[in-house]
Order: sequence, then C-alpha cells, then structure tokens
Amino acid sequence: MLNRMKNVISVLSLILFGFYHVISTMILHWNLPAINCSHTVKSELVKRNVHVGSVHCPLCDSGDDSVVHLFAACSVAQEVWSAIGHWCRLSPIIAFDVTDLLQTFKGAEGGKWGKIIAHDIIMVSCWCIWRARNESVFQDKKTSDRIVIANITRLAFLWCKHRSKFKDLSWENWLKSPLYML
Ligand SMILES: [Zn+2]
Repeated sequence: MLNRMKNVISVLSLILFGFYHVISTMILHWNLPAINCSHTVKSELVKRNVHVGSVHCPLCDSGDDSVVHLFAACSVAQEVWSAIGHWCRLSPIIAFDVTDLLQTFKGAEGGKWGKIIAHDIIMVSCWCIWRARNESVFQDKKTSDRIVIANITRLAFLWCKHRSKFKDLSWENWLKSPLYML
C-alpha cells in the first residue's frame, strides 16, 4: 500500500512538474525555443520505469508524444498551420521544429501591426494545440484540427479586440482575415 502511494505521488509530481515546466516557459517567459526539446511527461515517466500506456501523440495517435512532434510533425498541427497560414496570408508554414514557427510572422503583410498580430496568432495557436493535447491526456477529450482552429480564431479575436488598439473589430471580417483592418 505504501509503495503504491509512493508511486502515485511520484507520477503526480512528474505530471505537475512537466505541466508547470512547459506552461511556465510558454506563458511567463513566452519563449518557445526554450522548450524546443523532445522531453515530455510520458517519456520522462517511461525512463523511470513507470507504465503510462501508449507513448504515442494523443492528437494523432502516431509519433512520439514530444514537443517537437506536437508542434511540428503532428498531422493535426500541420492541418492547423496550413489553415492559419492561409488565414493570415502567410507563405505556407513548414516547421521542422518550434523555432521555425517563430519565424513565420516575419512575412506577414500590414507593416508593424500585421507582424505583431501574426506573431501573436502563432502563439495562440501553440497554446491551443498544447491545451488540446492536455485535454486528450488528462480528460480523455478527443479533438480535431477543426476544433483547434475554431478555438484559435476565437481566442485570438478576443485578444486582439481587448488587448490592442483595434477595439472595433468585426467578427465577420476577422474570420475572413485577421489583418483586414490594416
Ligand atoms: Zn501527433
């Protein structure tokens, strides 16, 4: 019984550490290259001989459950990047790792604000992909690229409307292009 409790505590602490590490890096430092590694909660658990079931990506059920796979190689993420790139009128987004994603905003139209909005949409996209992954792992909640894309457009709209100088954003026009007002 004691050993079982120790095992559960060990698993929980690793999950919390992994969650804290990635979220704090993304939110507090907002510096995605810092998490450009293949370490994940599951792979760290496996190293400690803890059975975690499938180590496959919970979004596509293929490939390792790693940060690089999740944001760059995952088929769900690739559908998201394709749609977001088209929506923001960017060149096709082809990412081999997370740092590639951080370069994509540079080709945005609309001057300084176009680049700022495109950059933040990429950040919101990373957040929504990460959240979808966690909901699948921790809540067994299945998602799709269409749901993730819908979440991105909604969350980015709220951000832009309330955290930028564009207070009069139109939802209908936003859906056509997030740079329509520039
Ligand atoms: Zn995947």
